[in-house]
Amino acid sequence: MQTVVTDSPEVAAGFINRAGIVAFPTETVYGLGADVFRPEAVARIFTAKGRPSDNPLIVHVQSPDHIGEVATGLTGRAAELVEQFFPGPLTIVLKKRDSVPDIVSAGLPTVGVRCPAHPMAAAFLRHCDHPVAAPSANVSGRPSSTDWKSVYHDLGGRIDCLLRGTPSTIGLESTIVDCSVYPPLLLRSGAIGLESLLEVVPELVVATTCKPGEAPKSPGMKYRHYSPEASIILVESPPETLDPVPPSAWIGLSEPPRGAAKSMQCHTAEEYARVLFGFFRTCDAEGIHTIWCELPPEKGIGRAIRDRLHKASGG
Ligand code: AMP
Ligand code: MG
Repeated sequence: MQTVVTDSPEVAAGFINRAGIVAFPTETVYGLGADVFRPEAVARIFTAKGRPSDNPLIVHVQSPDHIGEVATGLTGRAAELVEQFFPGPLTIVLKKRDSVPDIVSAGLPTVGVRCPAHPMAAAFLRHCDHPVAAPSANVSGRPSSTDWKSVYHDLGGRIDCLLRGTPSTIGLESTIVDCSVYPPLLLRSGAIGLESLLEVVPELVVATTCKPGEAPKSPGMKYRHYSPEASIILVESPPETLDPVPPSAWIGLSEPPRGAAKSMQCHTAEEYARVLFGFFRTCDAEGIHTIWCELPPEKGIGRAIRDRLHKASGG
């Protein structure tokens, strides 16, 4: 299949409206979307990514007014979160409308809904006939794509269209809050930090990562995620030196240790989030054997970085 690469949100939306699958930029990471009401198109997302069928997708809407097309129960805390954080990097889980095909929610009675703030994503969604179901645009298990070239590398020839935008400014997937239960549950950390969420939802509970054999609160939690080919070593602070052979890389807030074949010192946690997945991908392209990653302080987006690093390292 030939993948059409376009800069036009309208052209990209045309593919969605004709039951195609399209990768598009958002402020978190690139998404791979299909019309939420076309199960045969949504099924192609799972095939293109090699995604397990029990891992649900997030439904993207052009504005909060459209949430009611796919979900019910937008009252109380859910409404307050939408008021405060939409459009933006927050997904809320609500009761699913029956009209939303089961393949979207992986059979769950709930659905995750997000309204991206990215101007190109917003323009694209406005040209789509219906909301767009989309997971991240990467091969399942690999780091999410934060620029169009990474999308093309993973999915070129397997998707109908790629809407070429600028690199994602946040670089990590959305914060997910389950509002279908009370008290609401933080299912995944993201750019909207726990501190900000607690200001709106003081009773918010943080879901613990699931243990083997336990039913996960969010299906995505049980899978290997965000992993480069290279091995990952997590540290709270840098060692003095790294063995030069085989080649190792360093990423973190501190100065790189001696011996690193490749390194990235980030000046803020926000910068760390933005460059992390791209760094993983470059390390793989350059044959790095081990990536040493410094765990940032557990506040703001630092909590989400720590979560992705733990998952990427297999923990
Ligand atoms: P991705 O966009 O690739 O990060 O995938 C979407 C993530 O949202 C997955 O990890 C899912 O587990 C999570 N998700 C989507 N819908 C729901 C839902 N109804 N309940 C809980 N988690 C969800
Ligand atoms: Mg993903």
